Amino acid sequence: MGLADEAKRVAAEFEYSAEDVNKGVKEFIREMDEGLGKTGAMLSQIPTYVTAVPNGTEKGLYMAVDLGGTNFRVCSIQLHGNSTFSLTQSKVAIPRALMSAKTSKELFSFLAKQIENFLKTHHGEHYHSHIRRRLTNSTERGFRDEEIFSLGFTFSFPVNQIGINKGTLIRWTKGFDIHDAIGKDVCEMLQQEIDALHLPVRVAALVNDTVGTLMARSYSSPGKTGTLLGAIFGTGTNGAYVEKLEKVTKLKQIQEETGEEIDESTGEMIINTEWGSFDNDLSVLPNTPYDDDLDKESVNPGIQMFEKRVSGMFLGELLRRAILFLLKKHDCPLFADRDSSENDVHSTTNIADDSGIYKQWGLDTSFLSITHGDRSPGLRITRQTLDKEYGVTAASAEDAEAVQMIASAIGKRAARLSAVAIAAIVIATNKLESPADVATDNDAALGVNEDGIVDIGVDGSLVEFYPDFEDYIREAFRQIPQIGERGEKRIRIGIAKDGSGVGAALIALVADKVVKSDTGKEA
Ligand code: ADP
Ligand code: MG
Repeated sequence: MGLADEAKRVAAEFEYSAEDVNKGVKEFIREMDEGLGKTGAMLSQIPTYVTAVPNGTEKGLYMAVDLGGTNFRVCSIQLHGNSTFSLTQSKVAIPRALMSAKTSKELFSFLAKQIENFLKTHHGEHYHSHIRRRLTNSTERGFRDEEIFSLGFTFSFPVNQIGINKGTLIRWTKGFDIHDAIGKDVCEMLQQEIDALHLPVRVAALVNDTVGTLMARSYSSPGKTGTLLGAIFGTGTNGAYVEKLEKVTKLKQIQEETGEEIDESTGEMIINTEWGSFDNDLSVLPNTPYDDDLDKESVNPGIQMFEKRVSGMFLGELLRRAILFLLKKHDCPLFADRDSSENDVHSTTNIADDSGIYKQWGLDTSFLSITHGDRSPGLRITRQTLDKEYGVTAASAEDAEAVQMIASAIGKRAARLSAVAIAAIVIATNKLESPADVATDNDAALGVNEDGIVDIGVDGSLVEFYPDFEDYIREAFRQIPQIGERGEKRIRIGIAKDGSGVGAALIALVADKVVKSDTGKEA
């Protein structure tokens, strides 16, 4: 077989038919239900205790902090109430020593100190007037509520969330290791150090980045409609959506264990699906030899199987493995050295020994975007990138075409799988049931707007930069009978920026409303 035929054959292994899409949707809906009913299901369906999404009219000044793997981000967000906001932020690298400090107090007092610095630098007036008032005005907490910044805390480590601002650390990841923090409430640890510095800040909400994306989009999206779903297609993939409280049947049981109160006033709660682990037992997910090997050689075989076919961390690696397969085929001259003699044409390649093509995770998913979008004559851009980034000298147009064909197939399959997750949520929540012309006022609150539009917020480099990603998702939507041509037109997908900033601020705002209505104050 020639190179072109061989590449076509490999690309075909990544085809994901309309029938497959529909099977996937059915299984996704089944797993959604299962996850709502019990803990420990394949789809975790984690209750977030966030019970409302914003509509763009929210106003006020809020704070947000984001403890990721390497940096600590502090920001303040002024919500203007017209779907726009201003954001002020600072970022500091977390000192290595603190990542494995003896006590969690060392880390959290450092974080509180950064919040203090931020307040002094960017909100000096507010900070100083607060200090003055605190000295003269003695209320129960030492300050009045309206002087306090509510803060949303994005904490990107596994936590067992038991309330809107309550969650215990399950384990550290990403190089952190502070033993005494395990099992403790991360919001409380931060609040203690904030209080020790007498800062006018209340940790109002513990935030997951997917929920932040949903909130940010819901605030910024056109119209007063709430957004149904926030989805991330970046390093990993995950989604959070608005569910009817009555369908979250496992809440009762969780509540009995934790004794936490749940705000039931909206009848809804945002659910963090953790859909990266959809169908871990591969009952419906596609599986090629490349998927199989990638999984076996990963740090967590058998886990996050959906994510391993969809997200940025993995698509480049799938392509790399497909390329290696072609390189090993003796009758298939990919990247062959055409200057060498006819006899050893198949045994010599133009690839540098230290090329990423020979290393696990050595091929970045951004390469898929580059080659898929390459319309240059003879795929010059693809060949240049192979040369510059991957040490492949003198790739031929035919080589580049083979690589492009497979890369495009991997990208398209990822988009169609993404469509499965999104479609399943749109269908399971009945968002397309009321036709546009009979949409009621009540629909607005439920994520269907005046025009019958169902709004979806997305974030992440893959969905943002991979050409045609949304078009492929839409094509798959049209192949699902419960959505079809009509339904596809009613689904609006928009990028949601700054989920961990404005999204976290919005969760703090929603949390405030709950606290204030509980204590009988005005929301
Ligand atoms: P994070 O998930 O950490 O918030 P991003 O949303 O930027 O960050 O996603 C990073 C992932 O996206 C990485 O796996 C990277 O390989 C991939 N990526 C980066 N640039 C692109 C691109 N242009 N096209 C497709 N994927 C990309
Ligand atoms: Mg991100």
